[in-house]
Amino acid sequence: MGLPHASRRSSMPSATAPPLPVLQVRSPEPQAEQLRGALAADPPLEPTEALLAELKQQSEQLESASPQEILQYAVERFAPRFTMATAFGPEGMTLIHMLAEIAPQTPIFNLDTGYQFAETLELRERVKQRYGIEVELKRPETTVEEYEALHGGPVYKTDPNRCCFDRKLRVLHESARGMHAWASAIRRDQSEDRGRAAIVGWDAKFQLVKISPLANWTKKQVWKLITDHDIPYNPLHDKGYPSVGCWPCTRAVQLGEDERAGRWSGFEKKECGLHTA
Ligand code: SF4
Repeated sequence: MGLPHASRRSSMPSATAPPLPVLQVRSPEPQAEQLRGALAADPPLEPTEALLAELKQQSEQLESASPQEILQYAVERFAPRFTMATAFGPEGMTLIHMLAEIAPQTPIFNLDTGYQFAETLELRERVKQRYGIEVELKRPETTVEEYEALHGGPVYKTDPNRCCFDRKLRVLHESARGMHAWASAIRRDQSEDRGRAAIVGWDAKFQLVKISPLANWTKKQVWKLITDHDIPYNPLHDKGYPSVGCWPCTRAVQLGEDERAGRWSGFEKKECGLHTA
């Protein structure tokens, strides 16, 4: 995987290494039952028939609403139990920009796996300077060094589903303790799975209401807002990385490749599991 421009926080494969063969991911996507335990001591919203009907109706009503109107609804309906997770992608940055105007007190967090690019973490500082919003870094229980020592080496090389589960999904589950709703920055046109996202829906995996204000937006609309308002963004996007995740699982894409082609390149995996049903 060639990553000529990016800064990484720990050791990485040689830029001249031959491409990895396409591998099967070893662990299946974790099931909702595996995740539910973390919230047992703090029961979240119950997905009663009445709640599900409310969410469905609200989602339909908001289909033609602007992202700002959707965020406004989310804040009015769920704050202070409304939160947002961000990886500081262009879509996440647009939501942070909107929230800074609508409800800057909204708690926003980042799943800091220990494998993020230095550029991503620097963007967190720029968010603080620009908006006065301190995005909280939520970390797994183990450092990268401890985790790799426990597993006899980097888990992302052999079992990325396990690695994402341990270093992202578990952490999100813990971070959402006490919350009732979370905002995600997914767009429906990013993938088939994301294409099924509701504007407002029940997220059975995390037992939260999931709100996707940008579901109907295109990449072009996102970048227009960024340009029009000089919203800070990850400099890696200017260096061939349309989608930025952890450095071991992100490569630059070639002209004509899908915007997520650089994620888990060499594996069948296309999502970390946060946004799959
Ligand atoms: Fe691990 Fe890669 Fe998932 Fe990051 S994206 S948590 S390094 S498998």
